[in-house]
Amino acid sequence: MILRNTIAGQVLLLLLYARHTFFSSAKTVASEQLSMALPEPRAYLPDAQNLDFVYHDHEELTRFLRATSARYPNLTALYSIGKSIQGRDLWVMVVSSSPYEHMVGKPDVKYVGNIHGNEPVGREMLLHLIQYFVSSYNTDQYVKWLLDNTRIHILPTMNPDGYAVSKEGTCDGGQGRYNARGFDLNRNFPDYFKQNNKRGQPETDAVKDWISKIQFVLSGSLHGGALVASYPYDNTPNSRICRSSALCAMFQTYSAAPSLTPDDDVFKHLSLVYARNHAKMSRGVACKSATPAFENGITNGAAWYPLTGGMQDYNYVWYGCMEITLEISCCKFPPAYELKKYWEDNQLSLIKFLAEAHRGVQGFVFDPAGMPIERASIKIKGRDVGFQTTKYGEFWRILLPGYYKAEVFAEGYAPREVEFVIVEQHPTLLNVTLQASKRVEGVGAGGPSYYRPMQAPQHYRPGGPPPYAAAASTENGIFSTISNGLNSLYSNIFG
Ligand SMILES: [Zn+2]
Repeated sequence: MILRNTIAGQVLLLLLYARHTFFSSAKTVASEQLSMALPEPRAYLPDAQNLDFVYHDHEELTRFLRATSARYPNLTALYSIGKSIQGRDLWVMVVSSSPYEHMVGKPDVKYVGNIHGNEPVGREMLLHLIQYFVSSYNTDQYVKWLLDNTRIHILPTMNPDGYAVSKEGTCDGGQGRYNARGFDLNRNFPDYFKQNNKRGQPETDAVKDWISKIQFVLSGSLHGGALVASYPYDNTPNSRICRSSALCAMFQTYSAAPSLTPDDDVFKHLSLVYARNHAKMSRGVACKSATPAFENGITNGAAWYPLTGGMQDYNYVWYGCMEITLEISCCKFPPAYELKKYWEDNQLSLIKFLAEAHRGVQGFVFDPAGMPIERASIKIKGRDVGFQTTKYGEFWRILLPGYYKAEVFAEGYAPREVEFVIVEQHPTLLNVTLQASKRVEGVGAGGPSYYRPMQAPQHYRPGGPPPYAAAASTENGIFSTISNGLNSLYSNIFG
């Protein structure tokens, strides 16, 4: 449907024009300054009749989500992004004051739980988060502000088949970690650093399809088996440089070096927001004497242990979505009577983390007529992982206070560089108008030729061509098998 042909569309365009007219340079957004001025979110008052602190199997989970969407039709929308191998729906609940429609200019964010089937604390936390949001909207200013300004998509379980064969009270081990075909879903995504030869699984494909359709700004993936907020990269270009002996492979595996993104300051900040609002995480106490203690409760993923095919690197490198991995329980599948305590520990973190989507820069890219430009590529200078505008020409980028330059490209338009300032108190609104590129005379034989802006790849990738092209031939040897085995063992022990 063409935007102009509907009344709602015309109102929307008027709003877009108005914003474009009044905020032609970097300005601030009054309606989104509020998060800092608001009182802290109130504690959730659980209602056992709606949702108790017990584990919910797939049927119970489905029933809860359906009942909630029926009871709160103005705040929730339930959809399925696909099915697991055994035919269980991968339900996503949207919680927002605009559950069915993207709010133009406002960010979409997500949580993903239970990607490892035997790590279900996050799955239950996300059900309670849904219940908390819908039951607090009318009484809690912070929750109301968050839901009025953000569309929150919650996938409580990405691996319902794995959950179905997991056992309550099992703190370690791999039973139920994998999907029904035995694949680790957090090793099943395309990888920037190493070629990932694992066959794509339906659960992974559903998530890939989902995040290709919605421009998520911020995301958290919930795990268990450790207590830490872990941020990209999970993988590293370096872990295979030493491959002449099994000992060497072991050494490489266990003394991992950090693998930092160009947005390291932002990722550290996001991880600290989660850890510091958590009751215990930022103390950085080791789960067991044999497991690592994490300073301030955060770590770079690869510095903990490198892995190939993880979901957070994929979100970031492919779509510019800032995803971190939240390990929220030392025991992977603790007894149900502990769930209430886990909720109390995580409640504030789960909310405050999502509010971080309102930090940094946001805006629109327009053509000279004031129409939005879709799929314009934007890159913050010095941060070579880019992102693209939505069909409404919107973009968002979480950034800490400072001076920045953005490079904006779009097919058929002259590229632009724009400077802007980020402050702590509120997001910066940056609207960019691109001028149509000029015709270049005398280029090409037949037909008109147009100036093309500097060729921008569909998605910017950090540091040139994928390194795995060169490294692939070394991946299949005996030593990489040993090393992969150790990695797998290591990750079974930890999150
Ligand atoms: Zn996990």
